[in-house]
Amino acid sequence: MTSTPLVVLENVNKHFGDLHVLRDIDLTVNSGEVVVVIGPSGSGKSTLCRTINRLETIDSGVITLDGQPLPAEGRGLARLRSDVGMVFQSFNLFAHKTVLQNVTLGPIKVLKQGKAAAEARAMELLERVRIANQAHKYPAQLSGGQQQRVAIARALAMNPKVILFDEPTSALDPEMVQEVLDVMTDLASEGMTMVVVTHEMGFARRAANRVVFMADGQIVEENTPDEFFTNPRSERAQDFLSKIL
Ligand code: ADP
Ligand code: MG
Repeated sequence: MTSTPLVVLENVNKHFGDLHVLRDIDLTVNSGEVVVVIGPSGSGKSTLCRTINRLETIDSGVITLDGQPLPAEGRGLARLRSDVGMVFQSFNLFAHKTVLQNVTLGPIKVLKQGKAAAEARAMELLERVRIANQAHKYPAQLSGGQQQRVAIARALAMNPKVILFDEPTSALDPEMVQEVLDVMTDLASEGMTMVVVTHEMGFARRAANRVVFMADGQIVEENTPDEFFTNPRSERAQDFLSKIL
C-alpha cells in the first residue's frame, strides 16, 4: 500500500441554511485505499461524498484531488467528474439506453473515445462486473443488483482516480446485496481507491483499510476496521454499533 494522498479535505465546513452539515472535516484518502464511512442517518455522509465531486459547494476549507484544488466550473469541472466516479443508491442509469450505451456514453462524449474502442472497453468492464451477457438489454429488464453492477461499470469506464459509493446496496433486495459487494470487494483488492458509505459491516470489515465514523456532521472516530468494531472509543460509535450489529 502506497500512502500518496489522493483526496484531501482540510477543515471543510458546509451549511444548509442554519444546519451546519459538515463541521471541520479533515480527511485524507490515500491512493489505493478503501475508506468506509458509517454513521447515523442525517450525519452528513452523502453531503461529504457530494462535496468531493463538487455536486455540492463548501463554505470554507479546502478539498484537493491529486494535489489540485477542486475546480469551480467549466472544463475543469467536467474533468473532475470523470476523475471522481460516483455510484448512488438509486443506480441512476439512463432508462432509454441499453446497458452497453449506458457504459459508453461518457467515454464517447466526455473522453472523446471512438465508438468501437469505447464499446470494446465497455464489454471488458461488463465482464468484470459479470454482466456482459446483458449488454443489449435496457435497465428496466435487469434486476436491481444487475443495474447497480452496470452503474459500477459505467463509473469505471471513465477511468476515475477514485470512486465514491453512496449506500450502493441500500435499495437492493437482500438476495442481491452480495453480488454487488463481491464486485466492490474485487475492485478494492485490485487497488481501486474507494470511499464507501455503507451499513454493510461485513464489507467494512473485509475490504476497508479504514473506517470513518460520522455523527452530526463531524468525523467522530477514524480507525482500522478491527479496532473500530472491537473497540469503538466514542460513546456515539458504541451506541451506533449496538443498534446495527
Ligand atoms: P446522511 O447521508 O448521513 O444521511 P446527508 O448528507 O444526506 O446525511 O444529510 C445531512 C443533513 O443535511 C440532513 O439533516 C439532511 O436533511 C440535510 N440536507 C441534505 N441535503 C440537503 C439540501 N440539499 N438542503 C437542505 N438540507 C439538506
Ligand atoms: Mg446518505
